[in-house]
Amino acid sequence: MRSDNTKLSQPLEPELIAPCGMNCEICMAYLREKNKCSGCLTRGINKAKHCSTCIIRNCEKLSESSSGYCFDCQDYPCKRLQNLDKRYRTNYRMSMLDNLNNIKRLGLAKFIQQERSRWRCKHCGEQLCVHRPVCQNCGESWSGLC
Ligand code: SF4
Ligand code: SF4
Ligand SMILES: [Zn+2]
Repeated sequence: MRSDNTKLSQPLEPELIAPCGMNCEICMAYLREKNKCSGCLTRGINKAKHCSTCIIRNCEKLSESSSGYCFDCQDYPCKRLQNLDKRYRTNYRMSMLDNLNNIKRLGLAKFIQQERSRWRCKHCGEQLCVHRPVCQNCGESWSGLC
């Protein structure tokens, strides 16, 4: 179990908010110690393979989006984005489309601020992971968050 939560005082980089609305900071691949992913929009060499080849990140229509996010695409929300959203809503209680709508409505800075507080364990204050149903520090369930 980790005992310090110093990471929480660091600013969340805009590069960690993917074009699909995913917040990479709450991803298991970003949070793990070994073979850590650098995040969707970073140029790091440690990008997880399935994200380097992601059909949304590599979508040709993204270059036509003024913001670089899917919500500014003419086809928004396309089938592939809807499928991803459904998978995350079903398996992880998080919605990509809600995230994207919030980024559009609030702006990236405010969205990031909200994410920092949303994904903090209410019990111990540690960073939560969307792919794990309980806090990795204290074991508290975060299922009531969404
Ligand atoms: S695996 Fe994908 S979603 Fe997770 S941190 Fe890497 S780029 Fe982001
Ligand atoms: S919403 Fe548009 S930019 Fe995003 S994956 Fe779908 S087609 Fe590509
Ligand atoms: Zn906790």
